[in-house]
Amino acid sequence: MRYSETREASAEILRLMLQKMAAHPAAFTPLTYAVWYELISGINPALTEASNKLMEGGRKLDDRAIEQLHHNFVSDSKHEESFDARQEKINQLLSKLAGFTAETDKHANQFGNNLQAYGNTLKQDLDPAKLEALIGNMAGDTNKMRGSVQTLQSQLEDSKKEVQKLQRELKSARGEASTDPLTGVLNRRGFEAKAQTILDDAELIQKGLCLLMVDIDHFKKVNDTFGHLLGDKVIQAVATMLKFRVKGQDVVARLGGEEFAVLLPETDLAGARVVAEHIRQGIEKSKIRRLDTQDFIGGITVSLGISKYQGNTVVEMLDQADKALYQSKEGGRNRTTIFGQ
Ligand code: GH3
Ligand code: MG
Ligand code: MG
Repeated sequence: MRYSETREASAEILRLMLQKMAAHPAAFTPLTYAVWYELISGINPALTEASNKLMEGGRKLDDRAIEQLHHNFVSDSKHEESFDARQEKINQLLSKLAGFTAETDKHANQFGNNLQAYGNTLKQDLDPAKLEALIGNMAGDTNKMRGSVQTLQSQLEDSKKEVQKLQRELKSARGEASTDPLTGVLNRRGFEAKAQTILDDAELIQKGLCLLMVDIDHFKKVNDTFGHLLGDKVIQAVATMLKFRVKGQDVVARLGGEEFAVLLPETDLAGARVVAEHIRQGIEKSKIRRLDTQDFIGGITVSLGISKYQGNTVVEMLDQADKALYQSKEGGRNRTTIFGQ
């Protein structure tokens, strides 16, 4: 199904849509609803990219822009069309691959026949000059065969990239994108999938695994004071900060709105607290440039909750980190709480 959000999640999307739609001149028609729904929920990266381009430099989406976006990226006929186009790409790729292997197969057969012939020749008594020529031929054939295998290898490598690109396109067409278009980090779906592969890795988790939940404080006030665009910029800045403060195997995701998760493999609670505090202090000290006046705004803070893996599920870990996060909010915000402490 194209839309899989729950009633609760879609209500949050609707609330955000209303704010966005009010700030743009397009009429409030179902076309506009559909475009904004897909933009806010982030399920249609191609639409997001195209609309970001249209909105560059603070331009607004009017009726014409909405109609174009809807026609090109949302309407079902377009989806069918692009589905056919993708099907065609897959067919082309398959025949290309069949062509590569057939060509290499031909060379390999030829090579085999030549070897056979050399073997037969060798059974006779050969003078040194003939033997030398034979060895020369064998070396030449071997080189040709090696070249042919190398070509096949690089053609297969290129095809692998094409297949991966097609896979990504298909996923996003099915609304199964795993990254968040605003920040480029994983979205909730991507996070849950990635977290599951980590939980399934016995070696990784035996060295400890912790989860941080990060929520921007009083974010509604940021939006109300500085506008949604700057709000978005703050979300992007926090995502960048999170990526910057963690190591290679750690997983950063935007779970929704102004809320993030960071999964820390091979990390115990003490280590997780250190990472959390680095993040918290880094954001507290950071300044973000306003779009309109180029002034900096400070005073952005985040609250954090930490949970530790104890044989439970990803959802349970998220739930515990969320409870700890709630305690941080209750305790006055801009702080870190460990679940159960
Ligand atoms: P608290 O300190 O308790 O977390 O307060 P808060 O205002 O941050 O929390 P609340 O959950 O009440 O509000 C979150 C706000 O985040 C409401 C919503 O308008 C805003 N928001 C969610 N997603 C986006 C987004 O993609 N862009 C922008 N600009 N704002 C968003
Ligand atoms: Mg918040
Ligand atoms: Mg929140």
